[in-house]
Amino acid sequence: MCGIGVQEPLLVSELPYGLCDSCGSVTLNPQAMLDGAGERGRYLKHNNSLADRGYRAYLEAFLDGILNFEGLERDSIQRVFDYGSGPSPALVALLGLRGFDARGWDPYFDPHGEGFEGGADLVTCLEVAEHFRNPVEGFRGLSGAARPGGTIAVATHLLSSDREETERDFPAWWYRQDPTHVTFYTRGGLEAIAERAGLSLLGSTGSNTYIFRRETVE
Ligand SMILES: [Zn+2]
Repeated sequence: MCGIGVQEPLLVSELPYGLCDSCGSVTLNPQAMLDGAGERGRYLKHNNSLADRGYRAYLEAFLDGILNFEGLERDSIQRVFDYGSGPSPALVALLGLRGFDARGWDPYFDPHGEGFEGGADLVTCLEVAEHFRNPVEGFRGLSGAARPGGTIAVATHLLSSDREETERDFPAWWYRQDPTHVTFYTRGGLEAIAERAGLSLLGSTGSNTYIFRRETVE
């Protein structure tokens, strides 16, 4: 997964996963992944709009966590790019309401969404990294959307760094049971993969959001 370890087979409910013996991250084997049409159909069932108060509160909390992150200069953030904005780009709409210059991109629903010339100040990736079929490629996409020195915020649920815990808890984990979730990171795995894309992990906001900086020299 991180490019260092070997994938050890892990069979869960007849689904073939690989557990990296270096970083402990888990990926579903490609032949067991949904095809593009199946995946798109699942995403269309998510009804995530700003009109839903609970969902809006969740987005506000995600943004506030990032903007209040220690060491982040809030004033330096104007241009925000949402990577994987989904069928109804609610986060892009909310960012616009809050005065940011916001754009989004989605491989299924907005494939022609364009980034900012020179890169965004902040790239958001909310509940998207667990869908990455090729995590290093995914993180390179995030890195490429940010300006050098820019911030990348990735929200995903992590596996335990304790391998025995992963082997015990992974089969029944609710996060695993969404068939579009194919990549599950440990903190170490997340850090190692991001590093290969020129990103340094700065810390987390406490609500499953991990903050990275795009290095100025790769
Ligand atoms: Zn690994």
